[in-house]
Amino acid sequence: MKVKDITKSLQEWAPLPFQESYDNSGLIVGDEEMPIKGCLISLDLTESVIEEALKNQCNMIISHHPIVFKGIKKLSGNHWVNRCLIKAIKNDLAIYAIHTNLDNVMHGVNGMIAHRLKLTQRQVLRPMTNTLHKLVTFVPIEYKSKILKALHQAGAGDIGNYKECSFNITGEGVFKPAAGANPTLGSLDKLESVKESRIEVILPRHKKDIVLSALKSAHPYEEVAYYLTSLENNQENLGAGLIGQLSNPMPIMDFLEHLKLSMDLKYIRHTPLIIKNVEKIAVCGGSGSFLLNDACELGADIFISADFKYHEFFEADGRITIADIGHYESEVFTKQLLCDFLNEKLTNIAVRLSEVNTNPINYF
Ligand SMILES: [Zn+2]
Repeated sequence: MKVKDITKSLQEWAPLPFQESYDNSGLIVGDEEMPIKGCLISLDLTESVIEEALKNQCNMIISHHPIVFKGIKKLSGNHWVNRCLIKAIKNDLAIYAIHTNLDNVMHGVNGMIAHRLKLTQRQVLRPMTNTLHKLVTFVPIEYKSKILKALHQAGAGDIGNYKECSFNITGEGVFKPAAGANPTLGSLDKLESVKESRIEVILPRHKKDIVLSALKSAHPYEEVAYYLTSLENNQENLGAGLIGQLSNPMPIMDFLEHLKLSMDLKYIRHTPLIIKNVEKIAVCGGSGSFLLNDACELGADIFISADFKYHEFFEADGRITIADIGHYESEVFTKQLLCDFLNEKLTNIAVRLSEVNTNPINYF
């Protein structure tokens, strides 16, 4: 098992292009070809987590938060991030982060919170935009199935829970091979008319190159006629935050108790409890105050997130109850999510949950 085998699995689940622009998810330290004996899963990377990895013969650490966000100009060891990086490099450890790309997939960080709170009918609070393309191409009808198969295998044609979607119509393709052409059909300087299928498929923007190269290698023509357009459609199953329903409305105090138990909380900081019963619950692991209006617009009774500033609590403004459960507390079960995923995908490697509590915030 190499680093690249592990990162490939993780990236099929939470592709790196789904991370936010400020993020630094991906392989931060190490080489893709490094053989991996064991993986340690943590929320944050600290010197204690590195010690734990070394003690347990894990030479790869997968953390939710990247240890490096911005460029580093010196590795002098006078800052904890520097010391972690030096220690990782000296000990041949691979360091990988799976951060906002895991926030933005349905079954990621927020899916885990929704699962623990037993929420159903989940939808993304703020779907991602500008992530889809439409490809239109034209092929002789006898090649239609071959081309569709190649496009689907390369990742085109998924719409929500539907796979291998396409739209096809039959028409007439006309062309005249000119000097220098080596036509599959027809002959030089003669107008050729061919019964062709027009195929339309949707694809994620980040798979554009793979899909186009699959199209070109499966297509019989020397010059492949196609066009690609950007779509403004939202990608409904991708994006920030989630909203879901409880199976039955719950008195708000009972729900806060349920929240405490489900997320193993000591404290909940919340705005006034404005309604008796709650049913629609919005969640965002980590710093989610930017989603407050989205949660209100979708009719959430309560918004569970973290890192609200004093003045941001006022923005609830009688519309919703904000419940700030703490950044670490909102995301700590992400470790289990990652561990379960890797254990299911990679049977021949030891995957271990970090036992270090990396929460820098203590309560007295
Ligand atoms: Zn976080």
